[in-house]
Amino acid sequence: MGVKENLEAFLKTIPEGVQLVAVSKTKPDELVLEAWEAGQRLFGENKVQDLAARAPRLPGDIRWHFIGHLQRNKVKYIAAFVSLIHGIDSLKLLKEVNKQAAKNKRVIPCLLQFHIAEEESKFGFSRQEADELLQSEDYRQLRNIRINGVMGMATYTDDKEQVRKEFRNLRTIFLDLKESFFAGDPGFKEISMGMSGDYRIAIEEGSTMIRIGTKIFGARTT
Ligand SMILES: *Cc1c(COP(=O)(O)O)cnc(C)c1O
Repeated sequence: MGVKENLEAFLKTIPEGVQLVAVSKTKPDELVLEAWEAGQRLFGENKVQDLAARAPRLPGDIRWHFIGHLQRNKVKYIAAFVSLIHGIDSLKLLKEVNKQAAKNKRVIPCLLQFHIAEEESKFGFSRQEADELLQSEDYRQLRNIRINGVMGMATYTDDKEQVRKEFRNLRTIFLDLKESFFAGDPGFKEISMGMSGDYRIAIEEGSTMIRIGTKIFGARTT
């Protein structure tokens, strides 16, 4: 099946209110355009170089999300146009995003990434680290970022109950943070969780934003 067919079939299985981030990483521009022609406007990339090179080549009405691990020294390459950064995992990174956003006279929406998986390799805050950040004076000073919610990646495993437990944990974190720090802020509303292999569970556990590559664009070879 082509990208258009994949996308249309996939969208039928997604409840309203769950946003689809089409993860185009490593795929040629032609496939992104195919999805765009089918109506998709929200795309995700996980490498700064790829995103910075690709965005100017493709239609201007695409909203680009950065979903990967973001290095501080590379924020400047995407700050002018990125519409959401999913992987904020330190105050230092958030401050750099704020600085680059200010240079571009804009406010960049961000998600706090939480370490919900058992694997050591995945990035993200613990609950306590996030509390410290949100309580800090440094954070309060930041005028050019806003926190729209949370993001997390589950353990890569066939154990569905494990995955479910991790997603449930992320939703609990989201609700706690909302109550403690974002009460009365309707902009704090996103839970970015779920990929091709686990998005159904993620949606059952309250995901508002799923990041899907393989199911739309096919398997990646690189
Ligand atoms: C690659 C990637 C995805 C999409 O993965 P698929 O399994 O191809 O759907 C989602 N989130 C992040 C952070 C990724 O790097």
